[in-house]
This record gives sequence, structure tokens and C-alpha cells, in this order.
Amino acid sequence: MIDPAEILHRTFGFVDFRGVQRQVVDRVLEGRHTLAVMPTGAGKSLCYQLPALAMEGTCLVVSPLIALMHDQLRAAEAVGIRAATLTSADDNRDETIQRFRAGALDLLYVAPERASGEGFRNLLRQTPLSLFAIDEAHCVSEWGHDFRPDYRLLRPLLDSFPEVPRLALTATADAHTRADILEQLGIPADGLIVAGFDRPNIRYAITPRENTTRQIIDLIAEQPGPGIVYAQTRNGVETLAEKLAATGRTVLAYHAGLDPAVRRRNQAAFVASEDAVVVATIAFGMGIDKPDVRFVAHAGLPKSIEAYYQETGRAGRDGDPAVAHLFWGADDFARARQRIAEVEPARHAGERARLNALGALVETAGCRRRILLKHFGEDPPETCGNCDNCLSPPGAVDATVVAQKFLSA
Ligand code: ADP
Ligand code: MG
Repeated sequence: MIDPAEILHRTFGFVDFRGVQRQVVDRVLEGRHTLAVMPTGAGKSLCYQLPALAMEGTCLVVSPLIALMHDQLRAAEAVGIRAATLTSADDNRDETIQRFRAGALDLLYVAPERASGEGFRNLLRQTPLSLFAIDEAHCVSEWGHDFRPDYRLLRPLLDSFPEVPRLALTATADAHTRADILEQLGIPADGLIVAGFDRPNIRYAITPRENTTRQIIDLIAEQPGPGIVYAQTRNGVETLAEKLAATGRTVLAYHAGLDPAVRRRNQAAFVASEDAVVVATIAFGMGIDKPDVRFVAHAGLPKSIEAYYQETGRAGRDGDPAVAHLFWGADDFARARQRIAEVEPARHAGERARLNALGALVETAGCRRRILLKHFGEDPPETCGNCDNCLSPPGAVDATVVAQKFLSA
């Protein structure tokens, strides 16, 4: 087998492994089942791409979204990895199957629902498999924030190839979700590898809403660099974008209801810009690699701590100072409780726990970073020195009372 470090340099052009990458790669190369929990941008793809090159056979990659798969495919092909996607959106399926049968693929990307069919299982028996990579593995758990029932279909497939190592990858898993992923995918508890989640250059601030538009205009005025403002609805995006035009900055709108061409154009304009503000629903951000985002604002409560971490994590990827500012109101909690009442009863406990964790984050008079990192299983110091509460410790804050009122009962 070729030395992993050599593949890292020669194929990927990277100088060093980052964080836990080496640890994950080594474990996979030993053929052991693994769950890697690494923040967004930490370099999860490399953890299966590199072993796929080092090992005999094809690595099957399970991914939840066709758009994500196509991004990954382009990135893999760009460094010379032999890869293909097998989805309903592809018109070269016969060719892909041929290449797979001929052993001419390092990576084959598929959606979970495809992976479950008997026909597909028979196809997989025709070529040696190196590895199962299960990306966005939190989708397998009802405790996760993005449960996909199709991910539950994977287990029988994995079990019919017991000798093939499994690598599950996710950025977003609290302790409960992690334990569930291990169990659902048949990975032993000692297979868990967790990377550090701290993003020390991001300054966290959380403020009750007074006049959202005013508050966000002030924030934009303090932050000359590019920024993302998350609004909760398409309508919210449209109105806020119009109002923010008064700042004189380039303001771009982004939501799933826009014409795809407009969406692509706005995204490209944002990525290329040094001072644009994009107002978006959470549809914006996945697969976007813009290192110099200086601020992320939330005009309302995110879906979960995981979602908050992931969305704010788009700020400051270059390591320079960045700001994450969340504006919330009691009505956000009221709406969230309403939504919980509408989901199936089996999910109530998980959803309520998720909302309570968010409540603890917004209502704390202590360090925000500590609450975030503890949520991801770390034990950070009492104060970080780079969040609103550490920088100016609050007195008795009304917000606490308001949040408590909506969290109890
Ligand atoms: P994730 O899936 O964890 O969010 P990606 O796999 O998309 O992250 O990688 C994020 C970025 O980091 C990509 O641009 C990738 O090329 C880069 N990257 C990954 N590993 C390394 C490394 N060892 N050194 C430098 N850059 C890396
Ligand atoms: Mg990824």
C-alpha cells in the first residue's frame, strides 16, 4: 500500500493532515469501522477519498443530496480521482455501471434509497469494495436534526458486506445522536473519533430582537467585509433584502423560490465579492467555500444548536476575526413549540430537548462558547473572552425571564 502522506502530497497537494484526519485515515486503512465527528470545513471528504485511493476496490459513498454529490464529484475529479455518481439525475448511468464493473472507479456516489435495492446489492457483488463512506451520517438518527428515513435502509446493505469497513462522517452530532449513529450503523463505541469544535476567531453575540432591521443595519455598518444574514422565510428574505439596500452595500437575495439562474448568479456574485451581503434562507451555504465571510447574522432562532453552529461556522474560515450575531424573540420559541406539537409524537422528546438546548444558549448569562462546545461533548474553560457575555458580563437580563416563560410548561 502507498504511504498515506505521499498520497496527501501528490494527489491532494496538501502539506499536512489537519486535526484528526490522520487518525481517521489510519483507522480506516486498518479496516476498522469508524464514526468521525468533525466540524464543517475540517476536511471530512479527504478521510474517505484518501483511503479510497490507497485501498483495492471501489469506495461507495452515501450522500443525502444530489447537489452535494455533484459538488463532491467535481472536486474529486479535479484532483484526478476516478469518481462517478449514480443517481436518477444522471443520464450516463450505463457508462457508470460499466466503469464500476471494470474496477475503474475509486469512488461511487449514491443516494441512500438506491443503496437499499436487491439489484444494487448484486451489482456491488461484481467488484471488490474498499470502503463504505456514509456522509452526513446524522441523517440516520431520529435524534439528529435532519433525519432521513432512507438512511435506515443502509444497515442491511452494510451487513451483507461485513468485511468492508464503514466510515460514517458528520459535523453535527450531540452525544445522544452519536450513540445512535454508532448503533444504527453497527460501529463499535471505540470507533468514535471527535475533532475539536472550537472556532476561536468567531465572536458570538446573541441579542433579543427589538427592531431587527435596525439591529442588522448597525451590524453591517460595523462589519465592512462580506456577510450572510439568515432570515426564516422566503418572504422574510425578500423584505429584509429590500430594507438592507439602504446600507449602500451590495445586497443579494437567496432562497429556494428564486429562479435557479438568479440563485446561481447571486451565489457567484457573493463568492467573488469583498463586501457583499447575502440575505438568505438556510438553503444558502451548503457546498459554498468562501473563506473570508466576516459576519453571519441570524434574524431569528435557528433550528437547533447544530444548525446554529453549522451556519455561524461559515464565518471566518480564513482564521481572521469574524462575528456571529443572533437576534431572537419570544415568538420564535412560541413558533418552535407549535411546530413540535405538529410532528409525530415519537419525535417530541428529541425536538423538545433540541429546543431547550437552544434556550439555554440564548438565555445564558455565562459564556456562549462554553455552552456550544459542551453541547458537542467538550469541556472548555468557564470563559472564552470572545463572546458578548465574556466581553461585557450582563446584569439581570429581561431576556432570561422571557425565554424561561416560553421554555417551561
Ligand atoms: P467538510 O466536509 O468537513 O466540511 P471538506 O471535505 O469539504 O470539509 O473540506 C473543506 C476544505 O478543506 C476543502 O477545500 C479541502 O480541500 C480542504 N482541506 C481538506 N484537508 C486539507 C488539508 N489536510 N490541508 C489543507 N486543506 C485541506
Ligand atoms: Mg462534507
